[in-house]
Amino acid sequence: MPISEMRRLGLIGGMSAESTTTYYQLLNQGVRARLGGLHSAELLLWSVDFAPIARMQAEGDWDAAAAALSEAARRLEQAGAEALMICANTMHLVAPAVADAVSIPLIHIADATAEGLKAQGVRRPLLLATRFTMEKAFYRDRLAAHGIEAMIPGEAGRERLHAIIYDELCQGVTDVGSRTAVMALIERARAEGADGVIFGCTEIGLLLEPDAVGLPVVDSAVAHVGAALDFALGT
Ligand code: GLU
Repeated sequence: MPISEMRRLGLIGGMSAESTTTYYQLLNQGVRARLGGLHSAELLLWSVDFAPIARMQAEGDWDAAAAALSEAARRLEQAGAEALMICANTMHLVAPAVADAVSIPLIHIADATAEGLKAQGVRRPLLLATRFTMEKAFYRDRLAAHGIEAMIPGEAGRERLHAIIYDELCQGVTDVGSRTAVMALIERARAEGADGVIFGCTEIGLLLEPDAVGLPVVDSAVAHVGAALDFALGT
């Protein structure tokens, strides 16, 4: 007999551990906000060592990355997870393979992000993310299927942002100069017609306050958690 009516979530985290901490906090705060009292989230966390995963990304060995995450997904399903979350945008590049490895649903971060954008009437947002997420088709195509046409920074901006994510934010470092540099990317995109901003890397929220951006913002981690809470609580 289950002790809770809530559905149990299976999180693949550690990519990076900095943002997985945010997921854990937001999921528990969200359950408490919705159910009150001593309620907290039913979840399983498979937290990987990010160094080998990041090396596979850098080397373009997406098959190995897919295999590693699929194995984690199977273990989570065996342990009782009723839905999966990959707690990063970039690794959704292998989401189709991971979803195929299990019979439970995968809650897709780009779908949750797109719903958040549509709710705010945003159609042409600036996508702030890793190079992989900004430059490869998997993420922007998924947004496009929702009618969202994402803009990305120019080459120099993408390089700087990618370095900020891996060399600073994923290592627990927040730098004032980096904050200024990312705000400059946002200002340029606004001048070019952006009507919103996607924090399309789960660590961006550690650097920028959405309220300070001056455009509608969807933080992918927050949107992802919201979709997971809806699944877990059947709302
Ligand atoms: N957490 C990040 C993301 O949302 C970047 C780290 C990674 O490459 O997985 O994409």
